Amino acid sequence: MSLKNVPKVELHLHLEGAAPPAFIRGLAKRKNMDISGVFDADGGYAFTDFRHFLQVYEAATATLQTPEDYHRLTLAVLEESAANGVIYTESFLSPDFCGGRDVGAWREYLHAIRDAADQAEREFGIVMRGIVTCIRHFGPEKARQTALCAAETAGDWLTGFGLAGDERVGKPKDFAYAFDMAREAGLRLTAHAGEWGGAQSVRDALHDLRVERIGHGVRAAEDPALVEELAETGTVLEVCPGSNIALGLFRSWRSHPIGGFFDKGLKVTVSTDDPPFFHTSMTREYDRLADAFGWDDAVFTTLNTTAVNAAFCDDDTRAALLRRLEKSDA
Ligand SMILES: [Zn+2]
Repeated sequence: MSLKNVPKVELHLHLEGAAPPAFIRGLAKRKNMDISGVFDADGGYAFTDFRHFLQVYEAATATLQTPEDYHRLTLAVLEESAANGVIYTESFLSPDFCGGRDVGAWREYLHAIRDAADQAEREFGIVMRGIVTCIRHFGPEKARQTALCAAETAGDWLTGFGLAGDERVGKPKDFAYAFDMAREAGLRLTAHAGEWGGAQSVRDALHDLRVERIGHGVRAAEDPALVEELAETGTVLEVCPGSNIALGLFRSWRSHPIGGFFDKGLKVTVSTDDPPFFHTSMTREYDRLADAFGWDDAVFTTLNTTAVNAAFCDDDTRAALLRRLEKSDA
């Protein structure tokens, strides 16, 4: 039996990375852009490894050129998420791709994205909040400009700031200035770490950027002392098992550390990262996890309650989400 209708809370979703391939193909066609190298014979996204994935991601994203494109993208993504039972999603937004880090241009993109999110909430019942991410392999100077965009638009909808991109480039502390700006603007903080970087990268993100959540963090499994520290501090991990398996970090669902993390009391949550790139969806993640670890509805309720409590939203929104989880549990 599929877990499609179980209500789900997703904290780690890259907006461009969630773009359905057919949507990107349609945009490219209308704009006479040749991005044929982005797709495989079946029309899905094609890449060989993580570095290539980033190149394909950026090539696909190049078709998104206006606030209107992002309006349509946001609607398409949220409709798909809602069809998989997602009731709340936090999506990573990149001023790098939305207006080239110009604050005025970014405001227009953000307005379009938020307008689409409001429409999706009315039509599909899904709630969205935005997290601006700087992109690690674009370097600390661009991250400062990105942080300025985030700080200028921080509020009840744009609620977080994060670090994404290639973890093998630079160190978290290179981005401390950008994170300080975001923190001072009242934004809540997360960073990708412990995916391509080892356990130390998780420690660096926690200590040098003072984030409250870690994107991925799965390589903490290599260091029992860190696992213990994460459990004690209640650090929330945005785990994306299907993404990790698709990119070859773990061989199988059963060998993925999320099962052990949950058993040890870590605050784990489940997300898709860039679902069409990894041929996944929130439904597939839940189905595979149920198969691999024997997880039942009670476990998924625990994961979703953890996610709601860690969500970068206001308390009224949080309370409403908790009520929706409780109702479905009854
Ligand atoms: Zn990610």
